[in-house]
Amino acid sequence: MAPTAQQDEESRYAEIARSFPIVDTHNDFPYLLRVQLRNQIHTHNPFNFNGELTSHTDLPKLRKGGVGIQFFSCFIECKNPDYLYQDFDAANSAVRDTLEQIDVTKRLIDEYPDQMEYVTNSVEALEAFQKHGKIAVTMGVEGLHQVDTSLGVLREYFHLGVRYITLTHNCDNPFATAASSVIGGLPDKGLSDYGRSCVKEMNRLGMMVDLSHVSYKTMHDVLDVTKAPVLFSHSSAFSLTQHERNVRDDVLVRLKDNGGVVCVNFFPGFIAQNGSTSATIHDAVDHIAHIIDIAGWDHVGMGSDFDGIPEGPKGLEDVSKYPDLLIELMKRTNASDEQIKKVMGGNVLRIWRQNEDIAKELSKEIQPVEENWKERSWKFYGYVKDFPEVYPGSNKVYEETTEFDNEQTLFITEK
Ligand SMILES: [Zn+2]
Repeated sequence: MAPTAQQDEESRYAEIARSFPIVDTHNDFPYLLRVQLRNQIHTHNPFNFNGELTSHTDLPKLRKGGVGIQFFSCFIECKNPDYLYQDFDAANSAVRDTLEQIDVTKRLIDEYPDQMEYVTNSVEALEAFQKHGKIAVTMGVEGLHQVDTSLGVLREYFHLGVRYITLTHNCDNPFATAASSVIGGLPDKGLSDYGRSCVKEMNRLGMMVDLSHVSYKTMHDVLDVTKAPVLFSHSSAFSLTQHERNVRDDVLVRLKDNGGVVCVNFFPGFIAQNGSTSATIHDAVDHIAHIIDIAGWDHVGMGSDFDGIPEGPKGLEDVSKYPDLLIELMKRTNASDEQIKKVMGGNVLRIWRQNEDIAKELSKEIQPVEENWKERSWKFYGYVKDFPEVYPGSNKVYEETTEFDNEQTLFITEK
């Protein structure tokens, strides 16, 4: 009996997947560890990542799905529950909490060394899958509120292994305007001057600029200045589902020049069409196909948002289901093997490598960006004015913008 077209696509996909990984750019599993287990992965006995968990993500499901490179999101929410909150200078614990998410992600990888490998660049990532048969894991940070206005913190996140930062989550920050703020009625101010400096520094480091969650103007402003291809780590197409954080067609067109990639978010609320509140695997295929129609095969990937959403679409419920999605896409588009590899993760690997290459060049030409956020407050004890100057007059450079607490003395005297 001759094989049916369907068998044909399934066996062709299986052949491709033997040597090429699925790359997913956005999975929130570490956040579940925080919320439910307080990051204690040894203390709680039922937790076994290599067993069948009830979350969207576990090792057996990742293997079944053919996931070879996983970006885990080290997400911490905005500091104030009011998403229109604008006091960016207020003290908060976002940096501590982000470091905890980086820590638990790395400890999770270390716990299963036969199955996962921590990687820091695109070459290591592909080798971990193709040569060592492991799932390569790297990290993203979801919002510049998590650097707490500081480019120094951003640099250290890079050194800790973070390979993309989303410019905003659901709140504005000193760098950029969020889509959620525009929904809430605030003006779309796009990327600030400080945000432009931040993009420059991210390009210099090789930290991918992630435009998921940002406003429409922020997307355009970044495309005007970035020297490297951008990532949308978990975003879908606005033409099909009119959510403010989805990507409009004119932005998709600009990706042809920039080289960037939109990794489609599976959350039903971002892909359901025609007023429906539920979605199926076919809606996800529609979004991928639309991005291909407008921007081309070089500009699309997958960023599921699994475990950061209540549930996936019907037919695409967890990380084991990527093959079903790609087989559907093959049926729909008559894609070649090379085209399917691009959607599986080839495009993401390409822009990751391009960001690395561009960083190598830029870091020869420019120094680390030392700029501070202009509205940041600097407070010190008054007695530091008596400390030695670094050079004559150095004590005076920022005197006008410094607040001194003159009540504090250097010596505590016993009473
Ligand atoms: Zn998100």
